[in-house]
Amino acid sequence: MIEPISIRLEASSHCQLRCPACPTTDGSIDQVIGKGFLKADDFRTFLERNPSVRNIELSNYGEIFLNPQFLEILKIAHKRNVALAALNGVNLNNVSDEVLEALVKFRFREMTCSIDGASAETYRVYRVRGNFDRVTANVAKINQWKVTYRSRYPLLQWQFVVFRHNEHELPKARAWRKSSACTSPPSFPGPTRALSPTRRLYAVKWAPPPAPSTRSASGATTPRRFATSSGTGPR
Ligand code: SF4
Repeated sequence: MIEPISIRLEASSHCQLRCPACPTTDGSIDQVIGKGFLKADDFRTFLERNPSVRNIELSNYGEIFLNPQFLEILKIAHKRNVALAALNGVNLNNVSDEVLEALVKFRFREMTCSIDGASAETYRVYRVRGNFDRVTANVAKINQWKVTYRSRYPLLQWQFVVFRHNEHELPKARAWRKSSACTSPPSFPGPTRALSPTRRLYAVKWAPPPAPSTRSASGATTPRRFATSSGTGPR
């Protein structure tokens, strides 16, 4: 009998943003994944039946903070000493103050914050419907709670996917990170550093590099190119 220690659960397959290269945006996940939220009661039952599970990744095809029972899920996991993470990514646009505090209080372990820009103008080019000011304010609130609770959790990774339209903001993004009031500042550019388009096209993971005409001097690509060359995009 298999007794897994680490698993992945989909906390939400809904997302409020419309990132151009995301399969959640074009609906291509719907036939396979469906639309829904992880229910707190199901989560509790799952943990009771699988006591070997100690680590759960909650993010994949949607925004975990849209789950209306997310606070309860945090409490259940904490009570059973199960570590939660969202390393595939969160957009952090809509999170209640109660949940922001609970992330720290219940020691959510780690998450990747998808923030592809250092200004509202560039951020919303790819994170369509997103609000840069709200996202950065939520990062600041989490870090304030970390001070209050004297905790390093959740660890924050900043994923800045470099496109042609935002690469000029790399110095500004680095400065923002350094000057932020974070007690545990987001790392730059996040866990996809090796695949950063400034050095190597993200899309080559899945497909041949695009023709030179679609690339900028730095090698960064465009959202449309992501869509056509990879079939899926950055989270
Ligand atoms: S990439 Fe992430 S934030 Fe963007 S639409 Fe897809 S799930 Fe939502």
